[in-house]
Amino acid sequence: MHSRVLILGAGFGGLELATILSDELGEDAGVTLIDEAEAFVFGYAKLDVMFGRTSPESVRLPYAEIDKPGVSFRRETITAIDPEQRRVTTNAGVHEAEHLVVALGAGYDVDVTPGVILGENEFYSVPGAEKLAAAIAGFDEGNAVIGVCDAPFKCPPAPSEACLLLHDHLVRSGCRDRCTITFVLPLPSPVPPSPATSEALLEAFAERDIRFVPGRRLASAGEGAIALDDGSELPCDLLLAVPRHVAPEVVRAAGMTEDGYVPVESRTLRTGYENVYACGDVATVGVPKAGVFAEGAARSIATTLVATIRDGDGDGFYDGLGSCYIEFGAGQVGRVDVDFLSGPKPTGTFQAPSDALAAEKEEFGSSRRARWF
Ligand SMILES: Cc1cc2nc3c(=O)[nH]c(=O)nc-3n(C[C@H](O)[C@H](O)[C@H](O)COP(=O)(O)OP(=O)(O)OC[C@H]3O[C@@H](n4cnc5c(N)ncnc54)[C@H](O)[C@@H]3O)c2cc1C
Repeated sequence: MHSRVLILGAGFGGLELATILSDELGEDAGVTLIDEAEAFVFGYAKLDVMFGRTSPESVRLPYAEIDKPGVSFRRETITAIDPEQRRVTTNAGVHEAEHLVVALGAGYDVDVTPGVILGENEFYSVPGAEKLAAAIAGFDEGNAVIGVCDAPFKCPPAPSEACLLLHDHLVRSGCRDRCTITFVLPLPSPVPPSPATSEALLEAFAERDIRFVPGRRLASAGEGAIALDDGSELPCDLLLAVPRHVAPEVVRAAGMTEDGYVPVESRTLRTGYENVYACGDVATVGVPKAGVFAEGAARSIATTLVATIRDGDGDGFYDGLGSCYIEFGAGQVGRVDVDFLSGPKPTGTFQAPSDALAAEKEEFGSSRRARWF
């Protein structure tokens, strides 16, 4: 099958790109959007599932509901990518395209961390969050560890949020004084580009008696204990792990990656292959792995593709800006606005937690739901 634009992956990046191309070009967009999943789930919804605030069913946004001029969604598993020929093989056939966009996100490699098991003791997949919801509900005494296996990982504030939400849950259950919470992070501070955000989180940890272990990786997990990368051990009865991230195997097998991810030109998201772009977590852009950044990158690619399809030429300009909401517990949400590409090093500004930002986060989700589906 031949498409004008072939988008691999219907996550934050793929959905945003398909939506803009449809809005701008209508039937002329000629987009084929492929994903193997049946539904999209916002990353942060996994925290809601893990803490029993919602059910796994209610956070699923089925792709079958996508109905946009010029966009054809196909539920297929991509098994091979030939970036030179812009030819993609799936379990259902072969696709060729004038423009190819790889937006397949980041997957997880648990083999490097013995004892961390997908769908069991990590909260970065929906099955894992669901499984941990049951473990958390049954946890009323002992040592809890939120442990990150490696960097980079998606949504840098997410494990800090997990610590604060776990604290809230244990307080509500009346067992906080019988439990410890420890947070193991490979980074020097919770949100390195924004010292003010890190400071607010460290203050929140201190107020809640959450122990922070910076600059260390979770190396393995065993019965009643975990080991860190310096060989030290911590007692652990409940582990909420963030697995090591890696580009999907099909992208690595295509020879498109360097140091685990697809290198791109940061402002245009162009790869080294003609008319092939990489967008979001699968790429090395110089920004964090987060939905807002995947979305911004998709907007830049959309500008390029619309200009190229209309006028034969043109380039978007990705600004590397993004705002992330941070759950502080008790229904309060803070926000960090980060700028990754305009200066010599990333900078970020912090807005203190409030009800207004909690409402803004709600609006963030519902506006995307309305636009993409
Ligand atoms: C707990 C948690 C909290 C988060 N909170 C936030 C937040 O508050 N704000 C924020 O901006 N980001 C947040 N994120 C991060 C955000 O979810 C990701 O960064 C974002 O989804 C990346 O978008 P993407 O388009 O690059 O990839 P994804 O959204 O991961 O999409 C990739 C798609 O590719 C598909 N795919 C992969 N391999 C194949 C294949 N072989 N064949 C077919 N399809 C395939 C997948 O099914 C998937 O749908 C959070 C993540 C987690 C885990």
